[in-house]
Amino acid sequence: MLDDILDYLEHIRERPVWQPIPPDVRGLFRQALPQEPSDLATVHEMFMRDILPFAVGNAHPGFMGWVHGGGTPVGMLAEMLAAGLNANLGGRDQIPVEVERQVVQWVRELFGFPDTASGIFVAGTSMANLIAVLVARTAAMGVAVRHQGVAAGSKRLIAYTSTGAHGCISQAMDLSGLGIDALRVIPVNDRYQMDVEALQRAIAADRNAGLNPFFIAGTAGTVDVGAIDDLALLAEIAHQEGLWFHVDGAYGALAMLAPDIAPRLAGIELADSIAFDFHKWGQVPYDAGFILVRDGVLHLSTFASPAAYLRRETRGMAAGSPWPCDFGPDLSRGFRALKTWFTIKVYGAEKLGQVISSTCELARYLERCIEATPQLELLAPVSLNIVCFRYRCEDVDRMNADIVVALQESGIVAPSTTIINGHLAIRVAIVNHRTSSNDIDALVRATVEFGEIKAMPNRRKS
Ligand SMILES: *Cc1c(COP(=O)(O)O)cnc(C)c1O
Repeated sequence: MLDDILDYLEHIRERPVWQPIPPDVRGLFRQALPQEPSDLATVHEMFMRDILPFAVGNAHPGFMGWVHGGGTPVGMLAEMLAAGLNANLGGRDQIPVEVERQVVQWVRELFGFPDTASGIFVAGTSMANLIAVLVARTAAMGVAVRHQGVAAGSKRLIAYTSTGAHGCISQAMDLSGLGIDALRVIPVNDRYQMDVEALQRAIAADRNAGLNPFFIAGTAGTVDVGAIDDLALLAEIAHQEGLWFHVDGAYGALAMLAPDIAPRLAGIELADSIAFDFHKWGQVPYDAGFILVRDGVLHLSTFASPAAYLRRETRGMAAGSPWPCDFGPDLSRGFRALKTWFTIKVYGAEKLGQVISSTCELARYLERCIEATPQLELLAPVSLNIVCFRYRCEDVDRMNADIVVALQESGIVAPSTTIINGHLAIRVAIVNHRTSSNDIDALVRATVEFGEIKAMPNRRKS
């Protein structure tokens, strides 16, 4: 199994990024519950033949869709060790929990947070953002809100984010019981950053209406175009207004590791909480989300609950309180910290930062290629590692959507799409450490080629 998967990674360039799933292969995964055992080798064979070739391909250097990390063999091997150990990181006195605490300490250091800040691994930034909203709710309403519920408050809690924010911010409002309608979605400026004047007007209007503004979510690296909100300014407004300042840095926050990009995140060190993923720019295999909270006591008081079967001691296995399960909704928790610890130890922070810098460099290279290719046009400024562009033609949205499907089905490269100013864009997010300028060249070449092929019938008609 190890040989097979290491070969897969070593020779990944020889494979298509992705390929459409044949119906008979899909059918193999619609079977009844197996009563009889199967030979391990047979099941492994099925993995190699029917599963491995039909993954989304984010380990492949040609994968440029959404925001997916590439993973590393080091992370993979650590995951194997974690699975063998089968540690449950909910709590108790064990070194695996200390490994997680070590990563928490590194994260505090990276973001300039105090030793009293708390943090835990979660599945991803979606969960991390939800935890941030819940802790901010406790800050605004007091611990009693855990018993009384948000409906008991006399004034409705109102949150603010920008049109560039990820959908999971509104989902967090939904899941926390605050309601999606209590999220004000502030417009962005021409650099796709939250319009701070519009934000201030919205806060004032809500106060006048007798509502209770409590939470601002800035974004470090928007999912559409990679924009970074003016975090220092948002921090200042939050401070003046007495609001919680949260940063969704799902992929962008780890740019703190890259000395050439970190200055653009200035102000992140002032946040009350930061959500981010090690599984994106951090190259740790899925999943490894993280939430960091400045006020560790408040974080603890949002989730900790006394239960007889979770009784704490000062000695024995039940020592070492508080436990990770006291900082979030999960009691049973896997050893996400191990693959992250291995990745940081083996590669070092500097190298991980270099990967981040070089993906941004590749984005600027792609920008130059687009500018030098008359058939293509850029649709948004390139801020980090995300490039939005399109093929110039008639019926431009439908055609570009078709081009993206053709690119994905070709197996050469796999961008995704987004909507920029009402128009469909080919969206390229360079996250994978394996991606090189050759892959960018292949993307440009194939986009122009598919564009020409698809535009041909139209041209003949006209
Ligand atoms: C990816 C992403 C998320 C969601 O993170 P998950 O780890 O997929 O839950 C949230 N916000 C931004 C800006 C993202 O890029």
